[in-house]
Amino acid sequence: MNSSKIYDIAIIGGGLAGLALAIQGGKAGYKVALFEKEEYPYHKVCGEYISLESRSFIESLGVDLQGFGIPLIDTLQASDIDGKIAEFPLHQGGFGISRYVLDNYLFDIAKESADVFTKCKVSSAEYKSGQFTILSTAGHIVAKVVTGCYGKKSNLDVKFRRPFILQKPSSLNNYIGVKYHIRYPQPKNLISLHNFKNGYCGISNIEDDKCCLCYLTTAENLRSAGSNIKVMEQEVLAKNPQLDRIFSTAEFLYKEPLTISGVSFSSKSLVEDHILMVGDAAGMITPLCGNGMSMAMHSSKIAFGLIQDFLEDKISRHALELSYSKRWKQEFGSRLRTGRWVQQLFGGNFTTKVFLRSMNAVPSIAKIIIGLTHGKPF
Ligand SMILES: Cc1cc2nc3c(=O)[nH]c(=O)nc-3n(C[C@H](O)[C@H](O)[C@H](O)COP(=O)(O)OP(=O)(O)OC[C@H]3O[C@@H](n4cnc5c(N)ncnc54)[C@H](O)[C@@H]3O)c2cc1C
Repeated sequence: MNSSKIYDIAIIGGGLAGLALAIQGGKAGYKVALFEKEEYPYHKVCGEYISLESRSFIESLGVDLQGFGIPLIDTLQASDIDGKIAEFPLHQGGFGISRYVLDNYLFDIAKESADVFTKCKVSSAEYKSGQFTILSTAGHIVAKVVTGCYGKKSNLDVKFRRPFILQKPSSLNNYIGVKYHIRYPQPKNLISLHNFKNGYCGISNIEDDKCCLCYLTTAENLRSAGSNIKVMEQEVLAKNPQLDRIFSTAEFLYKEPLTISGVSFSSKSLVEDHILMVGDAAGMITPLCGNGMSMAMHSSKIAFGLIQDFLEDKISRHALELSYSKRWKQEFGSRLRTGRWVQQLFGGNFTTKVFLRSMNAVPSIAKIIIGLTHGKPF
């Protein structure tokens, strides 16, 4: 790590937001440093369904999606807690690819034009006299612009004392996520969302004839099952016959599931001590909407356009921060609100049934709700 080099852009976190930003910055000729605390490739808790709104952007980064031969997903199947199914067309649609493959592919592209420091955790980023000093486990660097692309929850949120971290547990901020890769005869064009008490579980195909099985539920649901995931799956999830069939017949490819806790859908600040927050660090959409990854990449594109204007002296730092916050809210504000609203309706026995029946009976309602949680291609 060269502490005498002044980077144009430093990126904390190398998930989709961070990697996409590093590639854009590096390809445009800027000096970019990206810090990722893990080593690629690695698995992440994520449903791994990517909305087609981001397809051309992903390809513009240099990913040959066609080369993966991934089938398109054009139908959403949802079941209520009793396993009763309804199906809806996904007008925009999407595709499935594991984070293990996609993030690693982007990492390979990013390191061609950016300094990517892996197994390198950032502990602070301090702003003084127009530049930042970033401290990490591998030393320090200096940068003109810093972006927080560090995902849903990080040591830095605690350091910045961001309000969502300090909130008491509520219906918006205390979820857990669990993920498996499995082999199961899930139709290629289908993403299924099976509800269970206080949660929902998605399944769709990814590469190599595998499926991603991923669910979100409240921390309370797990606690009631004696903090034992297997018990919760048997006693709560398997009450839905659709999930019972998956859990009892699929081949599970990991010994243990991948898990995360403390998932929060609360509002977050978009700029913290002059650091632009991008991706989940800026705000997380509920996974049932299936487009957090697209939002992460889209927000990196918005951030990069404005960072470029700042680095070219076209706008001040103050204008950069204001414009970024404004553009972010315009693009994602109402999608996040709709996602939170829909989330509240899922998981309750009665509300899920009524919601799914209304969507089934009036397809135009389904189309509007699905549309409200998705964006246009960018
Ligand atoms: C259960 C669940 C299911 C989901 N399903 C879907 C889905 O099907 N489709 C979809 O589009 N979205 C889905 N999402 C949302 C999606 O996973 C996120 O929106 C997306 O990963 C956000 O990308 P990101 O780059 O902002 O963050 P991340 O991908 O989380 O990347 C952040 C990175 O920062 C690193 N990091 C953190 N702190 C530091 C530090 N101090 N120093 C260095 N590195 C650090 C982390 O290791 C991580 O690699 C789901 C989310 C959950 C919880």
